[in-house]
Amino acid sequence: MSPEHLSTAVRDQRPAGYDADVIVVGAGPAGSTTAYHLARQGLDVLVLEKSTFPREKVCGDGLTPRAVKALIGMGIDTSSANGWARNSGLRIIGGGMKLEMPWPDLATFPDYGLTRTRKDFDELLATQAQAAGARLLQDTTVSGPVRHDRTGRIEGVVAQTKQADKTKGPEVTYRAPLVVAADGNSSRLGLASGRARREDRPMGVAVRTYFSSPFSDDEWLESHLELWDGDRLLPGYGWVFGLGDGRVNVGLGILDSSPAFGKVDYKALLSRWLERLGEEYEFTEPTEPIRGAALPMAFNRKPHYADGLLLVGDSAGMVNPFNGEGIAYAMESAEIAADVMSQALRRPTAYAREKALADYPRRLKAEYGGYYTLGRLFVKLIGHPEIMRLCAQRGLSHPLLMKVTMTLLSNLRDPRAGEPVDRLVNTLARVMPSS
Ligand SMILES: Cc1cc2nc3c(=O)[nH]c(=O)nc-3n(C[C@H](O)[C@H](O)[C@H](O)COP(=O)(O)OP(=O)(O)OC[C@H]3O[C@@H](n4cnc5c(N)ncnc54)[C@H](O)[C@@H]3O)c2cc1C
Repeated sequence: MSPEHLSTAVRDQRPAGYDADVIVVGAGPAGSTTAYHLARQGLDVLVLEKSTFPREKVCGDGLTPRAVKALIGMGIDTSSANGWARNSGLRIIGGGMKLEMPWPDLATFPDYGLTRTRKDFDELLATQAQAAGARLLQDTTVSGPVRHDRTGRIEGVVAQTKQADKTKGPEVTYRAPLVVAADGNSSRLGLASGRARREDRPMGVAVRTYFSSPFSDDEWLESHLELWDGDRLLPGYGWVFGLGDGRVNVGLGILDSSPAFGKVDYKALLSRWLERLGEEYEFTEPTEPIRGAALPMAFNRKPHYADGLLLVGDSAGMVNPFNGEGIAYAMESAEIAADVMSQALRRPTAYAREKALADYPRRLKAEYGGYYTLGRLFVKLIGHPEIMRLCAQRGLSHPLLMKVTMTLLSNLRDPRAGEPVDRLVNTLARVMPSS
């Protein structure tokens, strides 16, 4: 059956008064990926985005093979002719060592990463979702959910679109049988729907800026595992990612397991860290102001599905606690959510639809739960500077330990077959309790 026919089948079932099959709030990577996959399934998707493209988003702009796989899954051309800068792996600096580790050669993931600024990247994904049939309303800020009078189920949102003179327009209610919160780390919609941030999950903060540098064409994503502030070692890492356009993205992220968390001026910390970097980078004046944001990790907002509302990406706390990577997990959770929703919306009864939707949190748990539990332990451990230093020194000086460290940190391994190290990490992730 063609997507159009599938769509008609769902719309025939849709009670009157709905504006779409699914409303997606936010057109970052999570929202656009959700919308793309839903639209490809023939569903009528309305995306509400508070900003207008192109727009900035604070990020390191680094994409691992996980994210590349998700991009390919959206039919995006990842060639350099299409504006991407490719990388071959990680250059890890720490414990007095410098190692270049190529991305692993796997069946499951490609063997290259990419960089691209978010100004470009997010617009590209949103355009791809529109090309698949999703409707995008920009300059439209969602203030909260709309609930069914009797059941309390979320069946829409209240939003305001800016007028031509950029003043707020009237409040408008949009209704759909399912709503997706893809509105980023502070998730106003998640919060307004009673899903507060979990304090028992790790949190990071990251700041970044841009410089012109000969490292722009570097084929490695460079990570500095030891983050010194004076004589204090902080849990986190610094990065220099080449963008292939004459600039590099430079930044650092630190974790809340540090006593310094919340007490340091992160922008000043980045400036001090930059002073320690060698002259070979040729950094002079940053081309952009230093900006930062939070990294919500290890499922820090739950439930991922309840009462008609699904959380995806940062709003679901999907950032990997091992490395601060969020884009791949935003896109993967989005694809899972879209799959679950398209199954659910084609079921004939409310009971059967709810049964299908309940699979979303279960699939997230099965896919990431054990690994994120390991990540939470890792965050606690590296909160102790001595352990962190030991990890950097020992981990980088022993080839097998290095392989285990790389596999754990990057979360790149084959789930089936695979090398012994892949099997070890798979087993660890499987036996870890997930919550
Ligand atoms: C400094 C820094 C560096 C980082 N570096 C990397 C990196 O190199 N690689 C990586 O993979 N990850 C990195 N991350 C993490 C990554 O940026 C996030 O995980 C990713 O952006 C999550 O995507 P998302 O779509 O869930 O949320 P977002 O990208 O935050 O998108 C949310 C969207 O929702 C919109 N929105 C918000 N509220 C509303 C509302 N009320 N109504 C309508 N729309 C709304 C926003 O405008 C935005 O477009 C970094 C983060 C930071 C802070």
